[in-house]
Amino acid sequence: MKMKEETLRDIRRQIKRVKAAGGFYYEKLIGIEPDDIKTREDFEKLPFSEKADLRDAYPLGLSAVPEDEIVRIHSSSGTTGTPVIVPYTKKDVEDWAELFKRCYEIAGVTPRDRIHITPGYGLWTAGIGFQLGAEKLGAMTIPMGPGNTDKQLRFMQDMKSTVLCATSSYALLLAEEIEKRGIKDKIYLKKGIIGSERWGEKMRSRIADELGVELYDIYGLTEVYGPGIAINCEYNTGMHYFDDYLYFEIVDPKTGKVLPDGELGELVITTLKKEGAPLIRYRTHDLTRIVPDDVLCPCGRKYPRIDVILGRTDDMVKVKGVNIFPGQIDEILKAIPSASSEYQVFIDHENGRDRMTVFVETDIDEDKKKDFERELKEEFKSKINVGIVPKAVAIGDLPRSEKKSTRIFDYRY
Ligand code: ZN
Repeated sequence: MKMKEETLRDIRRQIKRVKAAGGFYYEKLIGIEPDDIKTREDFEKLPFSEKADLRDAYPLGLSAVPEDEIVRIHSSSGTTGTPVIVPYTKKDVEDWAELFKRCYEIAGVTPRDRIHITPGYGLWTAGIGFQLGAEKLGAMTIPMGPGNTDKQLRFMQDMKSTVLCATSSYALLLAEEIEKRGIKDKIYLKKGIIGSERWGEKMRSRIADELGVELYDIYGLTEVYGPGIAINCEYNTGMHYFDDYLYFEIVDPKTGKVLPDGELGELVITTLKKEGAPLIRYRTHDLTRIVPDDVLCPCGRKYPRIDVILGRTDDMVKVKGVNIFPGQIDEILKAIPSASSEYQVFIDHENGRDRMTVFVETDIDEDKKKDFERELKEEFKSKINVGIVPKAVAIGDLPRSEKKSTRIFDYRY
């Protein structure tokens, strides 16, 4: 994608601001002057920033404004050690509300809707972001927060909630409860806005069917405002994101090289307007791709698109020069009717070259296994251009694991 002149101008202004603030970016950008950034190539020479850098800035080292301009902080839930603290100015909060309002609009939510918000409110950005955007839009919110299913369902019926905001697992839980209690005809939901995480097509269709709603994937992360920076429209051609506030790049997670539109890699985000804690080339570790813009989305919106999040870069393996993610393997298997969703991958060396052996559970007859393996091999070749050694095994033969990443075993090191 071409870099717009106003994007470059915003980036120069951001660099000027973070350099003047001292602190976090001061050392990272030593020797770089804002006016050095005249082209996309100049920009792509700037160093990346990582979550670890942000952690090192704890507690308020990320702040790029005087303290009296900070109106709140949020914090990303550090599963290990020090959390990341993100300071927001008044304008940051307003900008976030604006972005989130756009997300609602893209999902077709109107001021006449009643928005039932189940993500948590507090230090992290989930619930409060859904709230901000809804208020900016002018819709009625029902700020439930998580838990207490009885109360959720009661309010959902009595308040006639039309939009459900939830994680995929909580949406599924509510859908199952509604089904179990036989109260579907008392539920008024039309749309579900689901925090973008990797969730299978099977789960998606169960939620959509049982709740009788259209589903929208919303994306975001605390370091960059929070949820509400990208969402799919009704045509489901990827998630639209807001290039007047954010610059997105996709890079090779191993080499950091910027990849052309359409190729899968790690999403890297630069904030263009953020005051409290601007980010320059922040590595999200989320895997996606930029949807090439030679064909505009049928909705007519000019906002560019990224694909849904396919997984995390930490789960990626490189085989025969090709980056492979668990999410891609799921998709290949989904396309083969006789394959179950259970698989294991072993990667090792054979005569100094990578060998990838893929075990897939199937319930087909013994005499059809060779055909099944041939199909498996062809699908991997055509979809991700990697030759594999296919192995059909019986249902129940492979150990069960919650985490997708533990299905790939790399014995090359
Ligand atoms: Zn669209």
